[in-house]
Amino acid sequence: MHSEMDRRQFAFSLAGLGRLWPQPRFVHLCGIEFRVKRYASSPRRFLVIHGDETTARDVLSDYMFDHYGIAYMVTNSGRNVEIEGVTIDPNRMFSRVGAQKSIDSLNPRIDAARREKALAFLDRERRNLLRKLTPGAGSRLFALHNNRDYSVNDEIPGSDRVSIRQPDRPREFFLCTDLRDFEILSKSPYNVVLQTKSEPDDGSLSRLAARRGFRYINLECAIGSYEDQMERVRWLDDRLP
Ligand SMILES: [Zn+2]
Repeated sequence: MHSEMDRRQFAFSLAGLGRLWPQPRFVHLCGIEFRVKRYASSPRRFLVIHGDETTARDVLSDYMFDHYGIAYMVTNSGRNVEIEGVTIDPNRMFSRVGAQKSIDSLNPRIDAARREKALAFLDRERRNLLRKLTPGAGSRLFALHNNRDYSVNDEIPGSDRVSIRQPDRPREFFLCTDLRDFEILSKSPYNVVLQTKSEPDDGSLSRLAARRGFRYINLECAIGSYEDQMERVRWLDDRLP
């Protein structure tokens, strides 16, 4: 009798623990699996979209332990994903034009029917993906990336404004689409560029954000620079509304 009661109480307390430390949830969006981490109710959205950018994923996963917002992190291990048997860069699927370019470059011998099937699938699924990633009114989407052979110097020519406070650290930089965010970030000790144009449409999230008018900030850091990336995430999240 006693042991039965103990067992019930134990099971009950485990259920209570589960509510305090929720288990990770997973969702499929555009055929891609994302791990979802949520802390309290908040209009803020966070994203890691490239599976081989493991530092960004580690930073965001740790950060979301005790900060408001909802984070979506891809679970695959490569940069590209397979959708309907076709390879695509997930940061090029936010428009049909961009998705088609990415599919053509990554699947050189693809036939028209298979390409059309993948594009039609994305056209159907994209709305749900965007519904999840679009921040609440007035809030922002913050995406974390890592780079290996890419830097702020690649973005300066296409930017409206730039603030380079760390010229010796070109691989660490913010890219934002809203002037007010740029004004705040340009007071940081870090590199930042502003890009408000929605063209040319390459299917990336920054172009989509410019088109749709929501605030988007992208943080690039060298792969492996965990502390540098965490420091910048904290700086931004503490100061941007
Ligand atoms: Zn990336």
